[in-house]
Amino acid sequence: MISVKNLTKYYGDVHAIDNISFDIEHGEIVGILGPNGAGKSTTLRIITSFLSQTSGSIFIDNKDIENNQRSIKKIIGYLPESAPLYNDMIVYDYLVYIAKIQDVEADKIEERLEYVIKACSLAGVIEKSISTLSKGFKQRVGIAGSIIHNPKILILDEPTNGLDPNQIVEIRELIKSLGKEKTVLLSTHILSEVEATCGRVIIINKGKIITDSSTEDLILNKTGGVSILLSIKTNDNEDNIEKTLKNISTLQTIKFRDTQNGIKNITLFLKESSTDPRDEVYNLIKKTDWVIYEMSKEKEDLESIFRTLTKGDNHE
Ligand code: ADP
Ligand code: MG
Repeated sequence: MISVKNLTKYYGDVHAIDNISFDIEHGEIVGILGPNGAGKSTTLRIITSFLSQTSGSIFIDNKDIENNQRSIKKIIGYLPESAPLYNDMIVYDYLVYIAKIQDVEADKIEERLEYVIKACSLAGVIEKSISTLSKGFKQRVGIAGSIIHNPKILILDEPTNGLDPNQIVEIRELIKSLGKEKTVLLSTHILSEVEATCGRVIIINKGKIITDSSTEDLILNKTGGVSILLSIKTNDNEDNIEKTLKNISTLQTIKFRDTQNGIKNITLFLKESSTDPRDEVYNLIKKTDWVIYEMSKEKEDLESIFRTLTKGDNHE
């Protein structure tokens, strides 16, 4: 349905998008995840024809968007990063106005309004001025406007940015329900967002794709590991401690976090195993003169994987 091939974008010298390719099938809800400056908005602006690429191509329903802008705009709904709303307009008037801009046929406008008001739960605010609405309701109005022409594809740039926790939950529910009948591509810099809403996640950083997989697989495969938080008291230096701990069969990495009152706080990153790795760690330490002050096991979560994947790489 959406096919992005070798997309590259330079803003002057800034290499914002670096040769990215992906395909999105009908009915998917896909999240583009990345830190600020990763290139998310640029990618979405190009897909929606608001910006032209430096090179590469985009096909929607097998049509090259460059030569089919008019027909393709009809099947795409786009909510930009900061939804451009006309603050002094009444919600109802705004939606009628957007419907007209989007070429909704005059005799269909009423029907479409009814649909978006219901879908986005706007009945209670329809007569209000946009300026008086909460940020959450403004976002709903923005989403309502983006689907007024009944597009097959919905593209949302950081749709929950700046909302409070309740509003975030509500907008996510709205996106999920819209995702039942539309193909949705959204961007976010918040990992829990994709976990909550998207079946698939494309992680980008510095304009490059780092990972493209189902959200489930990402959690299963990439979070396969466990980490152990270990606090020990010993006079051994870090090299010697490391030498001893390297005997742990599932060990991947050792990180010395800090030393407090002579107690060394260490994180051990281990591969997933069928048995609890603490047994092995304990048996190993038993042979030394170290004193264990603390040992706890943590499952590696998506958040830490995301941080590892994109660590220190922010543009901004
Ligand atoms: P994201 O949406 O992931 O935060 P953007 O797509 O907005 O990232 O930006 C990607 C990179 O391109 C950043 O380094 C940003 O500073 C740069 N950039 C974005 N828009 C422009 C612009 N209009 N002119 C110059 N550089 C830009
Ligand atoms: Mg952005």
